[in-house]
Amino acid sequence: MNAPDAASPTAPPPPALTEPVEDYLKAIYELESRFGAAATSDVANALDVAPASVTGMVRRLATQGYLDHVPYRGVQLTPRGRQAALRTIRRHRILESYLTGVLGYPWDRVHDEAERLEHAASDDLIERMAAALGHPKADPHGAPIPTVDGVMEELPHRTLAELPVGETARMLRVSDKNPSLLRYLAEIALQPGAEVTMVSRAPFDGPLTLRIGMNEPVVGPNLAAQVLVEAMPSTGPRSADALGTPGSLPSAAAPKSKSRKSPAR
Ligand SMILES: [Zn+2]
Repeated sequence: MNAPDAASPTAPPPPALTEPVEDYLKAIYELESRFGAAATSDVANALDVAPASVTGMVRRLATQGYLDHVPYRGVQLTPRGRQAALRTIRRHRILESYLTGVLGYPWDRVHDEAERLEHAASDDLIERMAAALGHPKADPHGAPIPTVDGVMEELPHRTLAELPVGETARMLRVSDKNPSLLRYLAEIALQPGAEVTMVSRAPFDGPLTLRIGMNEPVVGPNLAAQVLVEAMPSTGPRSADALGTPGSLPSAAAPKSKSRKSPAR
């Protein structure tokens, strides 16, 4: 029977949400970022529950001010719902970072652990983990970590499948939900931060030959479509122009260098 943590007058504790509520808000956040709204059937698929129970929970969360209904399309998060979802996402991604960075977990085994711990760890533990890691901006899969205030910075990106032949990009991000894909990517050293060059592309959606370090792995277009990359400002045909005009910064490179330079906290 511990007294609730009501001591800090500056930061009122967020309302305690149950584990299912946190999972719903997180799933709706992810669907909303992809499709603009979350349909009941998609929420049911994402959480592996029956559509009927989604309908009940969604009605409850809307009554409590976490969701708004969007006619014919499903639901969207209210600012309050978005704040709660980003809090869970922050916890999840810091936990994954800590498990890989400090405890030495391989990146294909942290997601399930984080799914459980994200509901149980105290805010104090999460923030100590973040501090111990030097306040990372991205998790081991390259996903951006929202700030305590619920701000999440998405870097501009494209998929590896879209990279033109001869161009080099930096691996940015891959979904954390497919362990066998993550193990394969680790085998060919295609992990966030790695430089990858598109060597050749077979016609008619055929295999892609990449260069990563000394190796030239061949991957399918389906795999390449799941890997996000960011352009490298120092390569590509525009770098010569940029050198010739020292007075003007190429506009495409400006937001990128800004986001790199921004302090970790
Ligand atoms: Zn995860």
